[in-house]
Amino acid sequence: MTDLSTFFVPGPTWVRPEILAEMTRPMIGHRSAEFRELCGRVFDDLRKLFLTSGNVFVAASSGTGLLEGALLNCVPRRVLVTTCGAFSERWREIAQQLGVEVDILEHEWGKPVDAERLATHFTGRRYHYDAVTFTHNETSTGVLNDLEALTAVVHAESHDTLILVDAVSSLACTPIAFDDWKIDVCIASTQKGLALPPGLTLFAVSERALEAARKKAYRGTYFDFLLFDKHAREGNVPFTPSVSHFYALAAQLEHILRVESIETRWARHLQLRDMTIERTAAFCQLMADESHASPSITALAPRKLEPSVLLARMKERGYTLASGYGRWKPAGIRIGHMGDISLESLSAMLDVLAEVADA
Ligand code: PLP
Repeated sequence: MTDLSTFFVPGPTWVRPEILAEMTRPMIGHRSAEFRELCGRVFDDLRKLFLTSGNVFVAASSGTGLLEGALLNCVPRRVLVTTCGAFSERWREIAQQLGVEVDILEHEWGKPVDAERLATHFTGRRYHYDAVTFTHNETSTGVLNDLEALTAVVHAESHDTLILVDAVSSLACTPIAFDDWKIDVCIASTQKGLALPPGLTLFAVSERALEAARKKAYRGTYFDFLLFDKHAREGNVPFTPSVSHFYALAAQLEHILRVESIETRWARHLQLRDMTIERTAAFCQLMADESHASPSITALAPRKLEPSVLLARMKERGYTLASGYGRWKPAGIRIGHMGDISLESLSAMLDVLAEVADA
């Protein structure tokens, strides 16, 4: 990694200049043989990222579009939403808007979703759930949920509840074993762990989820999984994609899988997290439960300065960090350390943060 980043927002993330350059390639028609070849390569590599041998699709949308799409395709009647922060609560807001029955298993902000509570909830449930939602990495609080344990609980308790996962800020930062954990829909966007500009959402969909979609009377149009499936069989997407993003995505997948390696990338994210927590401990309170601290974003409450003052002073020094999110906005700051952020970049920024925050 050559350049030092000064941009530490938890999405969009810093994009390497060579990847940005990929987006300036000349246009090709999205029904051309060239695009089919490009799309085929992207699908093959996305399978490696999601650790699946099944269906992967790409939509021109941010992540929220696919949260709605997953609910529209997979939930005819009732969904269980697990919450532990603002983005996991988004599943609830969308489901309520769609008019389906919503049960909520709520957790305190900063804490992870608890597998035992989930099991107890399932055992005592009065209704059948068509699906349960998880937000793998809660970007508002910096908590990484233990998705392997949570999916195991659902499989032990119900054989026909679909598992819908928001992996928007975790894919390519930490392992997600779509096939082994028997996930049904897993959603991620380009502007987080993949370190591309915002604009595309990538999602894996199980055969069970497609079966549920087939039975659903109304799936909408733009996010109809059956249309994505039909077009993917022809190495394509249903609607006009952002071709420029596809070029950049293909190049970035090549880099992630064959230059850096996915295992090295996961390990680097753990180092980024540990460095952030260690080097801010003297002047900031970690807002997440440390045992579930996210590898991609850290939420911190500064001890001496108001968060807004700290962010403004960092900006004066050339660094962009994020404010707290939702109800945590006034109390904290968030450091995005995902994607292609190097340890060197983070270390240089943390030196300045220590100077500014501890002055
Ligand atoms: N889910 C999570 C965990 C996120 O972090 C985000 C964005 O930050 C989203 C979903 C989707 O938001 P958007 O549709 O604005 O990209």
